[in-house]
Amino acid sequence: MKEEKFNGITVKRIVVGSLETNCYLVFSDDEMVVVDPGGDSKKIIDEIKNSKIVPNIIINTHHHPDHVSANEKVKDATGAEIFEGLREGYEINLGNNKLKVMETPGHTKDSISLLGEGFLISGDVLFSEGHGRTDLPGGSGEEMTKTLNRLRREIPDEVTIYPGHGEPFKMKEGKKVCFLM
Ligand SMILES: [Zn+2]
Repeated sequence: MKEEKFNGITVKRIVVGSLETNCYLVFSDDEMVVVDPGGDSKKIIDEIKNSKIVPNIIINTHHHPDHVSANEKVKDATGAEIFEGLREGYEINLGNNKLKVMETPGHTKDSISLLGEGFLISGDVLFSEGHGRTDLPGGSGEEMTKTLNRLRREIPDEVTIYPGHGEPFKMKEGKKVCFLM
């Protein structure tokens, strides 16, 4: 469980399930958002208990089973609300920081990324070695290209990218991937 702090927000990565999906706990001193509880609910709930912060919100970057499977169990254990259908520009306040929703389709139609100050939780859109698959239902190479071009334009080099699978990396590295499309 590695964690990093960004202007008052901690991002903690928990690897869950057989596809080694990254679940993220994103929290200030007293509020928490759980992103992509994709399996291993006990592991996630134990980590939440360790943090001593009660999560208010569960968000899924998209609705593939490996990103949503523990939604209900985490909800039942914590009382957090599952936020669905978040649109571009929606903002969630967390302490002095915030999470801003970016619609980033391509891997699926409903794919979103969450932008905080200094970090981006990108789901299955952008990984250190490549972009997400576009051949699954709802995937689109055309939309992926648009999304990657947008990220390349809007996300500065020093921003830390937290992908849906694998290790975090800097956008500087991510930009090389964006050019591969
Ligand atoms: Zn996926």
